[in-house]
Amino acid sequence: MGTGKIGFQASLATDVLEAGRCVGCGACVAVCSYICLQLAQEKPVLVKECQSCGLCAQACPRYGFSHVALENFVFGRSRKPDEPFGVYLRLAIAQATDGRILQTCQDGGVATALLAYALKTGQISGAIAVASSTEKPFYPRPMLASTFEEVLGCAGSKYVCSPNMLLLADVCKQKNAQIAFVGTPCQIQAIRKMQAAGLTRQTGCLSFLVGLLCSGCFTYEGLMETYIHREKGMDLRGIKKINVKGKLLLTTAAGVIGFPIAEIRQFQQKSCGACGDFSAELADISVGGLGLDGWTLVIIRTQKGEEMFSGAEKAGFLRVKALDTGDKALDLLVKLSEKKRKNVAAEKVEG
Ligand SMILES: Cc1cc2nc3c(=O)[nH]c(=O)nc-3n(C[C@H](O)[C@H](O)[C@H](O)COP(=O)(O)OP(=O)(O)OC[C@H]3O[C@@H](n4cnc5c(N)ncnc54)[C@H](O)[C@@H]3O)c2cc1C
Repeated sequence: MGTGKIGFQASLATDVLEAGRCVGCGACVAVCSYICLQLAQEKPVLVKECQSCGLCAQACPRYGFSHVALENFVFGRSRKPDEPFGVYLRLAIAQATDGRILQTCQDGGVATALLAYALKTGQISGAIAVASSTEKPFYPRPMLASTFEEVLGCAGSKYVCSPNMLLLADVCKQKNAQIAFVGTPCQIQAIRKMQAAGLTRQTGCLSFLVGLLCSGCFTYEGLMETYIHREKGMDLRGIKKINVKGKLLLTTAAGVIGFPIAEIRQFQQKSCGACGDFSAELADISVGGLGLDGWTLVIIRTQKGEEMFSGAEKAGFLRVKALDTGDKALDLLVKLSEKKRKNVAAEKVEG
């Protein structure tokens, strides 16, 4: 992954942006030493002359990315052939015990319960998570959540890429900050790439990474404004929850309405087709719904992840069930991981 001091135009502008591979995570903007880049309409643009510091290329998860090198960096080894969803220690199915979390969360509320436990026990001072914009329902608004109420306010999935990375430099400036980060696989990849490159100014405060399983993001304009609002005639403010489980499921005060997935595929963010990571393989803990009802499937990958998960269970923040081999959710995890990995096998991006 030695990308040297290459300028934005010679690296990301051509190989990522023009190639349609930019996810809009904001990593390049977050690391630029000369503040030459800004996000505009979810993509980076040069706002002044690039000084070729080379940091954007070192942070971007779509440029010079080697999954094997980063697996070795995180786990000290790469995955074995019998680890189709990456290196891990163990699997579980879990659910938050707090009724307030269960009311607002996406699946079993594990992501939120882990953050609540880590905050309560002083293991973190805050978490970078995603709230919903007040003007545009379900439009992601990255925020530093430092209280239980703020963490709770971020629960639930927004199916649009969120530029969480933009908060990193400011958050890491805070004295004694110990921060958890929740993100999609591409965001976790960017953070691990930055950590491996020694970009401590933006990552030195991160103590724990929760990755979300992800088949891909949608564009806000496509999914929310065109499909749900204009085509289906629904008021976006009346929607309490959006989920994708075999169908697009919209929860309103009147109940849950389902729509065929085939109708929304056209609104998927095209650049997600360049991602081969379904289960956030470089996170400390990965969480997903995988067709479960009211429970979250949890992949505990690192020792840090194990400490957080078992600590939260012991402290009564989580109730946990074992995952049986042959469980449908496990089959789906393997299937979706293999399906997504084919994206990069075709591109030969992974090392
Ligand atoms: C774009 C997207 C696609 C997904 N695709 C799948 C899939 O195909 N299969 C599957 O099993 N699971 C998928 N998930 C994960 C799933 O929706 C749940 O997030 C996961 O099961 C955890 O549920 P929970 O109840 O434990 O999380 P909760 O306790 O509800 O917490 C969810 C956490 O995710 C954060 N978050 C919400 N939206 C975003 C976002 N856009 N970017 C970064 N962080 C965010 C919230 O701030 C919160 O901290 C996807 C999630 C997203 C955001």
